[in-house]
Amino acid sequence: MAEWNIALGALVLILALAAGALLSRWYFTPAAEPTATLAELMRPGTANDIGWCPAEQAERLHSYDAAGRCCWTCRTFTPKGAGL
Ligand SMILES: [Zn+2]
Repeated sequence: MAEWNIALGALVLILALAAGALLSRWYFTPAAEPTATLAELMRPGTANDIGWCPAEQAERLHSYDAAGRCCWTCRTFTPKGAGL
């Protein structure tokens, strides 16, 4: 009879561990949220692109709009058609 109790205890323990593993996987799974990759956010031709910064004399990431571009590093504004 003691062997039967040990086997039953082991079965209950294994089932409890399996249930705990399933519950923790469900509990700690992050909710799906819409995300954009960095490449999608920074793709050329939209709002941001690499351009020449006349203040730093280097290529930097700029924010482009209809009036010109603004350097993300030093905030220097270069009007559109300035030729730099
Ligand atoms: Zn700059």
